[in-house]
Amino acid sequence: MMCSGIKALAMALVGALALTSTSSFGWEKDKTYKITILHTNDHHGHFWRSEHGEYGLAAQKTLVDRVRHEVESQGGSVLLLSGGDINTGVPESDVLDAEPDFRGMNLIGYDAMAVGNHEFDNPLSVLRQQEKLAKFPFLSANIYQKSTGERLFKPWAIFKPQGVKVAVIGLTTDDTAKIGNPEYFTDIEFRKPADEAKLVIEELQQSEKPDIIIAATHMGHYDNGNHGSNAPGDVELARSLPKGALSMIVGGHSQNPVCMEKSNRKIKDYIPGTPCTPDLQNGTLIVQAHEWGKYVGRADFEFRNGLLTLKRYRLLPVNLKKELKWDNGKSEWVLYLPEIPESPQMLTLLSPFQKKGKAQLAVKLGSVNQKLEGDRNKVRFEQTNLARLILNAQMARSKADFAAMSGGGIRDSIEAGNITYKDVLKVQPFGNTLVYVDFTGQEALDYLTAVAQKKPDSGAYPQFANVSFNAAGGKLSALKIKGEPVDLAKTYRMATLSFNGAGGDGWPKIDGHASYVNTGFIDAEVLKEYIQKNSPIDAATLAPQGEVSMK
Ligand SMILES: [Zn+2]
Repeated sequence: MMCSGIKALAMALVGALALTSTSSFGWEKDKTYKITILHTNDHHGHFWRSEHGEYGLAAQKTLVDRVRHEVESQGGSVLLLSGGDINTGVPESDVLDAEPDFRGMNLIGYDAMAVGNHEFDNPLSVLRQQEKLAKFPFLSANIYQKSTGERLFKPWAIFKPQGVKVAVIGLTTDDTAKIGNPEYFTDIEFRKPADEAKLVIEELQQSEKPDIIIAATHMGHYDNGNHGSNAPGDVELARSLPKGALSMIVGGHSQNPVCMEKSNRKIKDYIPGTPCTPDLQNGTLIVQAHEWGKYVGRADFEFRNGLLTLKRYRLLPVNLKKELKWDNGKSEWVLYLPEIPESPQMLTLLSPFQKKGKAQLAVKLGSVNQKLEGDRNKVRFEQTNLARLILNAQMARSKADFAAMSGGGIRDSIEAGNITYKDVLKVQPFGNTLVYVDFTGQEALDYLTAVAQKKPDSGAYPQFANVSFNAAGGKLSALKIKGEPVDLAKTYRMATLSFNGAGGDGWPKIDGHASYVNTGFIDAEVLKEYIQKNSPIDAATLAPQGEVSMK
Protein backbone atom coordinates (compact mmCIF):
# COMPACT_ATOMS: atom_id res chain seq x y z
CA MET A 1 0.00 0.00 0.00
CA MET A 2 2.80 2.39 0.93
CA CYS A 3 4.83 1.61 -2.16
CA SER A 4 1.98 2.44 -4.48
CA GLY A 5 1.38 5.66 -2.57
CA ILE A 6 4.95 6.86 -3.00
CA LYS A 7 5.02 5.75 -6.61
CA ALA A 8 1.90 7.74 -7.39
CA LEU A 9 3.51 10.71 -5.70
CA ALA A 10 6.70 10.42 -7.69
CA MET A 11 4.80 10.16 -10.95
CA ALA A 12 2.72 13.17 -10.12
CA LEU A 13 5.76 15.28 -9.33
CA VAL A 14 7.42 14.35 -12.59
CA GLY A 15 4.29 15.32 -14.49
CA ALA A 16 3.99 18.60 -12.72
CA LEU A 17 7.58 19.66 -13.11
CA ALA A 18 7.77 18.80 -16.76
CA LEU A 19 5.42 21.71 -17.37
CA THR A 20 7.25 24.32 -15.38
CA SER A 21 10.94 23.56 -15.43
CA THR A 22 13.01 26.37 -16.90
CA SER A 23 16.59 25.41 -16.25
CA SER A 24 19.66 27.55 -16.21
CA PHE A 25 21.40 24.31 -17.21
CA GLY A 26 23.98 24.11 -14.52
CA TRP A 27 23.38 20.38 -14.84
CA GLU A 28 24.41 17.80 -17.43
CA LYS A 29 22.02 16.09 -19.81
CA ASP A 30 21.15 12.46 -18.96
CA LYS A 31 22.93 12.65 -15.62
CA THR A 32 21.02 11.65 -12.46
CA TYR A 33 21.56 13.90 -9.45
CA LYS A 34 20.69 12.68 -5.96
CA ILE A 35 19.32 15.47 -3.77
CA THR A 36 18.06 14.83 -0.24
CA ILE A 37 16.00 17.40 1.60
CA LEU A 38 16.01 17.06 5.40
CA HIS A 39 13.58 19.07 7.46
CA THR A 40 12.40 19.92 10.97
CA ASN A 41 10.00 22.54 12.37
CA ASP A 42 8.59 24.01 15.58
CA HIS A 43 11.69 23.27 17.62
CA HIS A 44 10.42 25.53 20.44
CA GLY A 45 13.54 25.59 22.59
CA HIS A 46 14.13 21.83 22.79
CA PHE A 47 17.91 21.97 22.38
CA TRP A 48 18.33 19.41 25.19
CA ARG A 49 16.93 15.86 25.37
CA SER A 50 13.62 15.37 27.24
CA GLU A 51 13.49 13.90 30.74
CA HIS A 52 12.93 10.49 29.12
CA GLY A 53 15.92 10.89 26.81
CA GLU A 54 13.95 11.72 23.68
CA TYR A 55 15.04 14.03 20.82
CA GLY A 56 17.47 16.93 21.49
CA LEU A 57 20.03 18.47 19.14
CA ALA A 58 22.87 16.14 20.24
CA ALA A 59 21.09 13.03 18.89
CA GLN A 60 19.78 15.00 15.92
CA LYS A 61 23.37 15.95 15.01
CA THR A 62 24.38 12.26 14.91
CA LEU A 63 21.34 11.39 12.80
CA VAL A 64 21.90 14.20 10.29
CA ASP A 65 25.62 13.37 10.06
CA ARG A 66 24.73 9.75 9.25
CA VAL A 67 22.34 10.76 6.49
CA ARG A 68 24.87 13.23 5.07
CA HIS A 69 27.53 10.53 5.04
CA GLU A 70 25.23 8.05 3.34
CA VAL A 71 23.98 10.52 0.70
CA GLU A 72 27.36 12.12 0.00
CA SER A 73 29.15 8.76 -0.30
CA GLN A 74 26.78 8.06 -3.18
CA GLY A 75 27.61 11.40 -4.80
CA GLY A 76 24.42 13.08 -3.58
CA SER A 77 23.77 16.34 -1.74
CA VAL A 78 21.81 17.28 1.37
CA LEU A 79 19.85 20.44 2.13
CA LEU A 80 18.61 20.90 5.71
CA LEU A 81 15.64 23.23 6.20
CA SER A 82 13.56 24.38 9.15
CA GLY A 83 9.90 25.38 9.09
CA GLY A 84 10.52 27.91 11.89
CA ASP A 85 9.36 28.56 15.48
CA ILE A 86 12.73 27.92 17.07
CA ASN A 87 11.74 30.15 19.98
CA THR A 88 9.65 29.71 23.13
CA GLY A 89 8.63 26.67 25.08
CA VAL A 90 11.52 25.39 27.22
CA PRO A 91 12.55 27.60 30.15
CA GLU A 92 16.31 26.83 29.91
CA SER A 93 16.19 28.03 26.32
CA ASP A 94 13.82 30.91 26.99
CA VAL A 95 15.99 32.47 29.70
CA LEU A 96 18.92 32.37 27.26
CA ASP A 97 16.93 33.80 24.30
CA ALA A 98 17.36 30.47 22.41
CA GLU A 99 21.11 31.01 22.02
CA PRO A 100 21.88 27.29 22.56
CA ASP A 101 19.28 26.37 19.97
CA PHE A 102 20.72 28.57 17.24
CA ARG A 103 24.30 27.57 18.06
CA GLY A 104 23.24 23.92 17.91
CA MET A 105 21.56 24.44 14.55
CA ASN A 106 24.78 25.99 13.26
CA LEU A 107 26.73 22.90 14.30
CA ILE A 108 24.23 20.56 12.62
CA GLY A 109 24.53 22.70 9.49
CA TYR A 110 21.07 24.06 8.74
CA ASP A 111 20.87 25.74 5.34
CA ALA A 112 17.80 27.95 5.84
CA MET A 113 14.85 28.56 8.11
CA ALA A 114 11.37 30.03 7.68
CA VAL A 115 10.54 32.78 10.17
CA GLY A 116 7.80 31.48 12.51
CA ASN A 117 5.24 33.46 14.50
CA HIS A 118 7.02 32.65 17.77
CA GLU A 119 10.20 34.30 16.51
CA PHE A 120 8.28 37.47 17.44
CA ASP A 121 7.73 36.52 21.09
CA ASN A 122 10.68 38.76 21.91
CA PRO A 123 11.26 42.30 20.69
CA LEU A 124 12.66 42.53 17.15
CA SER A 125 16.09 43.42 18.59
CA VAL A 126 16.36 39.90 20.08
CA LEU A 127 15.35 38.32 16.78
CA ARG A 128 18.02 40.40 14.99
CA GLN A 129 20.56 39.15 17.53
CA GLN A 130 19.53 35.55 16.78
CA GLU A 131 19.79 36.25 13.07
CA LYS A 132 23.35 37.47 13.58
CA LEU A 133 24.21 34.36 15.57
CA ALA A 134 22.80 31.95 12.97
CA LYS A 135 25.02 30.85 10.08
CA PHE A 136 21.96 30.29 7.90
CA PRO A 137 19.36 32.76 6.57
CA PHE A 138 16.00 33.52 8.20
CA LEU A 139 13.57 33.64 5.29
CA SER A 140 10.18 35.28 4.87
CA ALA A 141 8.79 36.87 1.72
CA ASN A 142 5.60 38.25 3.27
CA ILE A 143 6.79 40.21 6.32
CA TYR A 144 7.13 43.93 5.70
CA GLN A 145 8.02 47.00 7.68
CA LYS A 146 4.96 49.23 7.39
CA SER A 147 6.81 52.54 7.55
CA THR A 148 9.24 51.75 4.72
CA GLY A 149 7.31 49.14 2.71
CA GLU A 150 10.49 47.03 2.76
CA ARG A 151 10.72 43.33 3.56
CA LEU A 152 12.14 42.59 7.02
CA PHE A 153 13.81 39.34 5.90
CA LYS A 154 15.31 37.84 2.77
CA PRO A 155 12.49 36.38 0.67
CA TRP A 156 14.58 33.49 -0.64
CA ALA A 157 17.98 31.81 -0.70
CA ILE A 158 19.65 30.03 -3.61
CA PHE A 159 21.57 26.76 -3.28
CA LYS A 160 23.50 24.93 -5.98
CA PRO A 161 23.97 21.29 -5.03
CA GLN A 162 26.18 19.82 -7.81
CA GLY A 163 25.21 22.73 -10.06
CA VAL A 164 21.44 22.15 -9.78
CA LYS A 165 19.87 25.45 -8.84
CA VAL A 166 17.49 25.23 -5.87
CA ALA A 167 15.58 28.29 -4.64
CA VAL A 168 14.11 28.19 -1.13
CA ILE A 169 11.39 30.74 -0.40
CA GLY A 170 10.31 31.61 3.16
CA LEU A 171 6.68 32.33 4.14
CA THR A 172 5.08 33.12 7.51
CA THR A 173 1.47 32.76 8.63
CA ASP A 174 -0.44 36.04 8.35
CA ASP A 175 -2.05 35.05 11.66
CA THR A 176 1.18 36.16 13.37
CA ALA A 177 0.02 39.68 14.18
CA LYS A 178 -3.27 38.31 15.52
CA ILE A 179 -1.88 35.50 17.68
CA GLY A 180 1.39 37.13 18.74
CA ASN A 181 2.04 39.96 21.16
CA PRO A 182 0.50 42.97 19.40
CA GLU A 183 2.92 45.34 21.14
CA TYR A 184 5.67 44.14 18.82
CA PHE A 185 3.75 44.60 15.58
CA THR A 186 3.17 48.33 15.48
CA ASP A 187 5.41 48.72 12.41
CA ILE A 188 5.24 45.17 11.00
CA GLU A 189 2.82 43.90 8.39
CA PHE A 190 2.12 40.31 7.37
CA ARG A 191 0.91 40.19 3.78
CA LYS A 192 -0.98 37.20 2.35
CA PRO A 193 1.61 34.42 1.90
CA ALA A 194 -0.04 33.03 -1.24
CA ASP A 195 0.03 36.46 -2.96
CA GLU A 196 3.67 37.01 -2.05
CA ALA A 197 4.58 33.48 -3.13
CA LYS A 198 3.11 34.13 -6.56
CA LEU A 199 5.09 37.37 -6.92
CA VAL A 200 8.31 35.84 -5.69
CA ILE A 201 8.03 32.74 -7.90
CA GLU A 202 7.48 34.93 -10.98
CA GLU A 203 10.44 37.07 -9.98
CA LEU A 204 12.62 33.99 -9.48
CA GLN A 205 11.62 32.54 -12.83
CA GLN A 206 12.61 35.83 -14.51
CA SER A 207 15.86 36.40 -12.67
CA GLU A 208 17.41 33.30 -11.13
CA LYS A 209 15.67 30.67 -13.25
CA PRO A 210 15.99 27.95 -10.61
CA ASP A 211 15.62 24.28 -11.52
CA ILE A 212 13.70 23.58 -8.33
CA ILE A 213 11.66 25.89 -6.08
CA ILE A 214 10.93 24.85 -2.51
CA ALA A 215 9.01 26.85 0.08
CA ALA A 216 10.00 26.69 3.74
CA THR A 217 6.81 27.85 5.42
CA HIS A 218 5.36 28.43 8.84
CA MET A 219 1.65 28.38 7.98
CA GLY A 220 0.22 25.04 9.11
CA HIS A 221 -1.12 21.96 7.33
CA TYR A 222 -4.91 21.71 7.35
CA ASP A 223 -6.52 18.67 5.76
CA ASN A 224 -8.12 19.53 2.44
CA GLY A 225 -7.53 23.22 3.16
CA ASN A 226 -10.08 23.27 5.98
CA HIS A 227 -8.24 25.87 8.02
CA GLY A 228 -11.14 26.88 10.31
CA SER A 229 -10.38 30.05 12.24
CA ASN A 230 -6.67 29.84 11.29
CA ALA A 231 -5.19 31.71 8.35
CA PRO A 232 -4.82 29.57 5.20
CA GLY A 233 -1.98 27.04 5.32
CA ASP A 234 0.20 24.95 3.03
CA VAL A 235 -2.60 23.06 1.24
CA GLU A 236 -4.33 26.33 0.28
CA LEU A 237 -0.96 27.77 -0.78
CA ALA A 238 -0.19 24.85 -3.11
CA ARG A 239 -3.67 25.00 -4.63
CA SER A 240 -3.49 28.75 -5.25
CA LEU A 241 -0.33 28.55 -7.39
CA PRO A 242 0.17 27.22 -10.91
CA LYS A 243 0.37 23.43 -10.77
CA GLY A 244 3.74 22.28 -9.45
CA ALA A 245 5.14 25.83 -9.25
CA LEU A 246 6.56 24.70 -5.93
CA SER A 247 8.17 21.27 -5.93
CA MET A 248 7.88 21.00 -2.20
CA ILE A 249 6.61 22.80 0.88
CA VAL A 250 8.59 22.21 4.08
CA GLY A 251 6.01 23.29 6.62
CA GLY A 252 5.44 23.97 10.31
CA HIS A 253 3.09 25.71 12.74
CA SER A 254 0.27 23.12 12.99
CA GLN A 255 2.78 20.77 14.63
CA ASN A 256 1.74 17.46 13.14
CA PRO A 257 3.49 14.70 11.31
CA VAL A 258 2.05 15.19 7.82
CA CYS A 259 1.56 11.53 6.96
CA MET A 260 -1.53 10.89 4.87
CA GLU A 261 -3.98 8.11 5.58
CA LYS A 262 -5.72 8.78 2.27
CA SER A 263 -6.06 11.78 0.03
CA ASN A 264 -6.78 14.95 2.02
CA ARG A 265 -6.66 13.21 5.39
CA LYS A 266 -3.72 12.89 7.77
CA ILE A 267 -3.17 9.85 9.95
CA LYS A 268 -4.51 10.91 13.34
CA ASP A 269 -2.12 9.10 15.63
CA TYR A 270 0.97 8.51 13.58
CA ILE A 271 3.24 5.84 15.10
CA PRO A 272 6.98 6.66 15.02
CA GLY A 273 8.97 4.46 12.68
CA THR A 274 6.01 3.50 10.48
CA PRO A 275 5.76 4.56 6.80
CA CYS A 276 4.79 8.16 6.08
CA THR A 277 3.21 9.35 2.82
CA PRO A 278 3.46 13.13 2.61
CA ASP A 279 0.63 15.23 1.19
CA LEU A 280 0.53 16.04 -2.49
CA GLN A 281 -1.54 19.01 -3.61
CA ASN A 282 -1.64 20.43 -7.10
CA GLY A 283 1.74 18.92 -7.95
CA THR A 284 3.39 20.13 -4.73
CA LEU A 285 4.70 17.78 -2.10
CA ILE A 286 3.86 18.97 1.46
CA VAL A 287 5.81 17.73 4.47
CA GLN A 288 5.99 18.53 8.17
CA ALA A 289 7.98 16.81 10.94
CA HIS A 290 5.66 17.18 13.93
CA GLU A 291 7.54 19.37 16.47
CA TRP A 292 10.44 19.77 18.95
CA GLY A 293 12.94 17.82 16.83
CA LYS A 294 11.00 14.61 17.46
CA TYR A 295 11.67 13.70 13.84
CA VAL A 296 13.92 14.63 10.99
CA GLY A 297 11.96 14.40 7.75
CA ARG A 298 13.93 12.90 4.86
CA ALA A 299 12.94 13.24 1.21
CA ASP A 300 15.29 11.54 -1.28
CA PHE A 301 14.91 12.99 -4.76
CA GLU A 302 16.47 12.31 -8.10
CA PHE A 303 16.90 15.16 -10.56
CA ARG A 304 17.43 14.26 -14.21
CA ASN A 305 17.03 16.31 -17.35
CA GLY A 306 15.14 19.03 -15.53
CA LEU A 307 12.76 16.64 -13.80
CA LEU A 308 12.59 16.09 -10.06
CA THR A 309 11.34 12.72 -8.81
CA LEU A 310 10.73 11.70 -5.22
CA LYS A 311 12.25 8.28 -4.70
CA ARG A 312 11.54 7.83 -1.01
CA TYR A 313 10.18 9.73 1.95
CA ARG A 314 10.54 8.97 5.64
CA LEU A 315 10.10 10.58 9.03
CA LEU A 316 13.13 9.55 11.08
CA PRO A 317 12.31 9.48 14.82
CA VAL A 318 14.93 11.00 17.12
CA ASN A 319 15.01 8.57 20.06
CA LEU A 320 11.23 8.70 20.47
CA LYS A 321 9.87 6.39 23.15
CA LYS A 322 6.58 4.97 24.26
CA GLU A 323 5.52 4.53 27.84
CA LEU A 324 4.89 0.92 28.83
CA LYS A 325 2.81 0.60 31.97
CA TRP A 326 3.19 -2.37 34.30
CA ASP A 327 0.44 -3.85 36.47
CA ASN A 328 2.24 -2.62 39.61
CA GLY A 329 1.63 0.96 38.50
CA LYS A 330 5.25 1.52 37.44
CA SER A 331 6.13 2.36 33.88
CA GLU A 332 9.07 2.21 31.56
CA TRP A 333 9.97 4.31 28.51
CA VAL A 334 10.93 2.16 25.54
CA LEU A 335 12.53 3.26 22.28
CA TYR A 336 10.63 2.75 19.03
CA LEU A 337 13.88 2.30 17.09
CA PRO A 338 17.51 1.61 18.12
CA GLU A 339 19.04 4.45 20.11
CA ILE A 340 20.87 7.23 18.28
CA PRO A 341 23.93 8.18 20.38
CA GLU A 342 24.33 11.84 21.21
CA SER A 343 27.13 13.72 19.46
CA PRO A 344 29.94 14.44 21.98
CA GLN A 345 30.77 17.60 20.06
CA MET A 346 27.20 18.84 20.45
CA LEU A 347 27.11 17.91 24.14
CA THR A 348 30.31 19.91 24.69
CA LEU A 349 28.66 22.89 23.06
CA LEU A 350 25.29 22.64 24.82
CA SER A 351 26.13 21.39 28.33
CA PRO A 352 27.27 24.78 29.70
CA PHE A 353 24.04 26.38 28.41
CA GLN A 354 21.92 23.64 29.98
CA LYS A 355 23.70 24.14 33.33
CA LYS A 356 23.32 27.89 33.17
CA GLY A 357 19.62 27.67 32.32
CA LYS A 358 18.92 25.03 34.97
CA ALA A 359 20.60 26.99 37.71
CA GLN A 360 18.21 29.85 37.07
CA LEU A 361 15.14 27.67 37.23
CA ALA A 362 15.52 24.82 39.66
CA VAL A 363 14.92 26.74 42.85
CA LYS A 364 11.83 25.68 44.84
CA LEU A 365 9.29 28.51 45.14
CA GLY A 366 6.48 26.80 47.03
CA SER A 367 4.07 23.88 46.86
CA VAL A 368 0.51 22.81 46.07
CA ASN A 369 -1.54 19.90 47.40
CA GLN A 370 -3.32 18.96 44.12
CA LYS A 371 -2.74 19.28 40.39
CA LEU A 372 -3.31 22.74 38.93
CA GLU A 373 -4.99 22.18 35.58
CA GLY A 374 -3.43 23.81 32.51
CA ASP A 375 -3.94 21.11 29.91
CA ARG A 376 -4.76 22.48 26.47
CA ASN A 377 -7.88 20.29 26.37
CA LYS A 378 -9.13 21.91 29.58
CA VAL A 379 -8.08 25.58 29.56
CA ARG A 380 -9.60 26.11 26.12
CA PHE A 381 -12.91 24.52 27.16
CA GLU A 382 -13.69 25.25 30.81
CA GLN A 383 -12.67 27.36 33.82
CA THR A 384 -9.72 25.81 35.69
CA ASN A 385 -8.00 26.15 39.07
CA LEU A 386 -4.67 27.11 37.48
CA ALA A 387 -6.30 29.95 35.53
CA ARG A 388 -7.81 31.11 38.81
CA LEU A 389 -4.36 31.09 40.47
CA ILE A 390 -2.78 33.09 37.63
CA LEU A 391 -5.59 35.64 37.66
CA ASN A 392 -5.44 35.91 41.48
CA ALA A 393 -1.73 36.69 41.12
CA GLN A 394 -2.52 39.39 38.57
CA MET A 395 -5.17 40.93 40.82
CA ALA A 396 -2.90 40.83 43.86
CA ARG A 397 -0.14 42.68 42.01
CA SER A 398 -2.38 45.27 40.36
CA LYS A 399 -5.03 45.68 43.10
CA ALA A 400 -7.68 44.79 40.52
CA ASP A 401 -11.29 43.87 41.29
CA PHE A 402 -11.45 41.18 38.66
CA ALA A 403 -9.29 39.61 35.98
CA ALA A 404 -9.62 37.81 32.66
CA MET A 405 -7.26 36.25 30.13
CA SER A 406 -7.49 33.93 27.15
CA GLY A 407 -7.09 30.23 27.97
CA GLY A 408 -4.59 29.81 25.14
CA GLY A 409 -2.09 31.78 27.24
CA ILE A 410 -1.88 28.88 29.71
CA ARG A 411 0.54 26.34 28.29
CA ASP A 412 1.01 23.60 30.89
CA SER A 413 -0.27 22.16 34.19
CA ILE A 414 1.46 22.26 37.58
CA GLU A 415 1.59 18.87 39.30
CA ALA A 416 0.94 18.40 43.02
CA GLY A 417 4.09 18.87 45.13
CA ASN A 418 6.92 21.36 44.99
CA ILE A 419 6.77 24.20 42.46
CA THR A 420 9.84 25.71 40.79
CA TYR A 421 10.34 28.66 38.49
CA LYS A 422 10.72 26.14 35.71
CA ASP A 423 7.17 24.89 36.32
CA VAL A 424 5.88 28.46 36.27
CA LEU A 425 7.69 29.30 33.04
CA LYS A 426 6.21 26.28 31.32
CA VAL A 427 2.76 27.58 32.22
CA GLN A 428 3.52 31.12 31.03
CA PRO A 429 6.44 31.00 28.57
CA PHE A 430 5.63 34.07 26.49
CA GLY A 431 6.93 36.89 28.65
CA ASN A 432 3.75 38.97 28.47
CA THR A 433 3.36 41.78 30.96
CA LEU A 434 0.66 42.53 33.48
CA VAL A 435 -1.68 45.38 32.51
CA TYR A 436 -4.80 46.87 34.06
CA VAL A 437 -7.57 49.26 33.19
CA ASP A 438 -10.20 51.12 35.25
CA PHE A 439 -13.58 50.45 33.67
CA THR A 440 -16.97 51.89 34.48
CA GLY A 441 -19.51 49.20 35.28
CA GLN A 442 -20.96 49.72 31.79
CA GLU A 443 -17.54 49.30 30.16
CA ALA A 444 -16.91 46.18 32.21
CA LEU A 445 -20.27 44.79 31.11
CA ASP A 446 -19.53 45.55 27.43
CA TYR A 447 -16.04 44.08 27.65
CA LEU A 448 -17.13 40.88 29.38
CA THR A 449 -20.04 40.51 26.95
CA ALA A 450 -17.60 40.61 24.01
CA VAL A 451 -15.10 38.25 25.63
CA ALA A 452 -17.79 35.74 26.65
CA GLN A 453 -18.57 35.21 22.94
CA LYS A 454 -15.15 33.60 22.36
CA LYS A 455 -15.70 29.97 21.59
CA PRO A 456 -14.33 26.90 23.37
CA ASP A 457 -11.67 24.88 21.52
CA SER A 458 -9.80 28.07 20.65
CA GLY A 459 -6.97 29.92 22.35
CA ALA A 460 -9.35 32.88 22.72
CA TYR A 461 -11.64 31.00 25.14
CA PRO A 462 -11.77 33.25 28.26
CA GLN A 463 -10.78 32.47 31.85
CA PHE A 464 -12.21 34.69 34.61
CA ALA A 465 -11.69 35.49 38.28
CA ASN A 466 -14.03 37.42 40.61
CA VAL A 467 -16.85 37.60 38.08
CA SER A 468 -20.04 35.60 37.65
CA PHE A 469 -22.65 35.83 34.90
CA ASN A 470 -24.86 33.98 32.46
CA ALA A 471 -24.02 34.51 28.80
CA ALA A 472 -26.55 33.52 26.17
CA GLY A 473 -27.52 34.85 22.77
CA GLY A 474 -24.77 37.49 22.75
CA LYS A 475 -25.96 38.99 26.05
CA LEU A 476 -24.77 38.86 29.66
CA SER A 477 -27.16 38.66 32.57
CA ALA A 478 -26.73 38.52 36.34
CA LEU A 479 -23.22 40.03 36.15
CA LYS A 480 -21.57 40.19 39.54
CA ILE A 481 -18.08 41.49 40.32
CA LYS A 482 -16.55 40.33 43.60
CA GLY A 483 -19.91 38.77 44.45
CA GLU A 484 -21.88 42.05 44.11
CA PRO A 485 -24.26 42.95 41.26
CA VAL A 486 -22.45 45.29 38.87
CA ASP A 487 -23.13 49.01 39.35
CA LEU A 488 -22.94 50.58 35.90
CA ALA A 489 -21.74 53.91 37.27
CA LYS A 490 -19.06 52.52 39.59
CA THR A 491 -15.40 52.02 38.66
CA TYR A 492 -13.88 48.54 38.53
CA ARG A 493 -10.26 47.70 37.90
CA MET A 494 -9.59 44.77 35.57
CA ALA A 495 -6.25 43.01 35.28
CA THR A 496 -5.17 41.07 32.21
CA LEU A 497 -2.07 40.44 30.12
CA SER A 498 -0.55 42.88 27.63
CA PHE A 499 -1.30 40.26 24.97
CA ASN A 500 -5.05 40.48 25.54
CA GLY A 501 -4.97 44.20 26.30
CA ALA A 502 -3.48 44.89 22.89
CA GLY A 503 -6.18 42.86 21.17
CA GLY A 504 -4.44 39.47 21.07
CA ASP A 505 -6.63 36.42 20.28
CA GLY A 506 -9.19 38.84 18.88
CA TRP A 507 -10.08 40.25 22.32
CA PRO A 508 -11.27 43.90 22.46
CA LYS A 509 -8.32 46.30 22.36
CA ILE A 510 -8.07 48.27 25.60
CA ASP A 511 -4.54 49.67 25.37
CA GLY A 512 -5.96 52.96 24.07
CA HIS A 513 -8.21 53.38 27.12
CA ALA A 514 -7.38 56.53 29.12
CA SER A 515 -6.83 54.52 32.30
CA TYR A 516 -4.77 51.71 30.74
CA VAL A 517 -1.53 50.88 32.57
CA ASN A 518 1.12 48.46 31.42
CA THR A 519 2.98 47.57 34.62
CA GLY A 520 5.93 46.05 32.79
CA PHE A 521 5.85 43.08 35.18
CA ILE A 522 6.46 39.78 33.36
CA ASP A 523 3.54 37.36 33.83
CA ALA A 524 5.66 34.42 34.98
CA GLU A 525 7.43 36.59 37.52
CA VAL A 526 4.06 37.80 38.88
CA LEU A 527 2.88 34.21 39.28
CA LYS A 528 6.21 33.15 40.78
CA GLU A 529 6.05 35.79 43.47
CA TYR A 530 2.41 35.00 44.28
CA ILE A 531 3.26 31.32 44.73
CA GLN A 532 6.18 32.24 47.00
CA LYS A 533 3.93 34.41 49.17
CA ASN A 534 0.93 32.07 49.32
CA SER A 535 2.45 28.60 49.72
CA PRO A 536 1.49 25.99 50.61
CA ILE A 537 -1.34 26.52 48.13
CA ASP A 538 -4.62 24.73 48.80
CA ALA A 539 -5.95 23.86 45.34
CA ALA A 540 -9.49 23.42 46.71
CA THR A 541 -9.73 27.18 47.28
CA LEU A 542 -9.14 27.72 43.56
CA ALA A 543 -11.69 25.22 42.22
CA PRO A 544 -14.22 26.85 39.86
CA GLN A 545 -17.77 26.81 41.28
CA GLY A 546 -19.76 27.33 38.08
CA GLU A 547 -19.57 31.12 38.41
CA VAL A 548 -19.77 31.72 34.67
CA SER A 549 -22.09 30.07 32.22
CA MET A 550 -21.38 30.52 28.51
CA LYS A 551 -23.78 28.92 26.04
ZN1 LIG B 1 3.73 28.58 14.91
